[in-house]
Amino acid sequence: MLNIAFIAHDRKKSEIVNFVIAYEKVFEGHQLFSTGTTGTRIMEQTDLTIHRFESGPLGGDQQIGALVARNEMDLIIFLRDPLMAQPHEPDIIALLRLCDVQGIPVATNIATAEILVKALERGEFAWRELPNKYKPGVDEA
Ligand code: PGA
Repeated sequence: MLNIAFIAHDRKKSEIVNFVIAYEKVFEGHQLFSTGTTGTRIMEQTDLTIHRFESGPLGGDQQIGALVARNEMDLIIFLRDPLMAQPHEPDIIALLRLCDVQGIPVATNIATAEILVKALERGEFAWRELPNKYKPGVDEA
């Protein structure tokens, strides 16, 4: 079971919902996380259970980043809006930087997301199956 996080900026939320609907069968069985509104939107449209952190502008990216810093997040689908300034731009940069520090697969657009989810479907994330991984509620970040 992998820890997978979803984040989408407002004008990308429909895109991430449609993406997760399309690959719902691949995501079920994994431990799913998200920023606040993204998770609500996905759960409204799927049968998935997602552990929601704060909304992005209120610190959700940083909470996901805390798991990345501990090497406890395995895959992040982060559909950014490249055409609109975000108030929490420093948090976004920090999260992506930590992904590079730890070598965490992170998709920032739908094309990369498709490739990563297909790799996940083929079982190519076995190298991320680490023991003692973060569980929500047990070990709050
Ligand atoms: P949200 O946060 O899912 O709560 O909207 C994501 C963001 O917009 O940064």
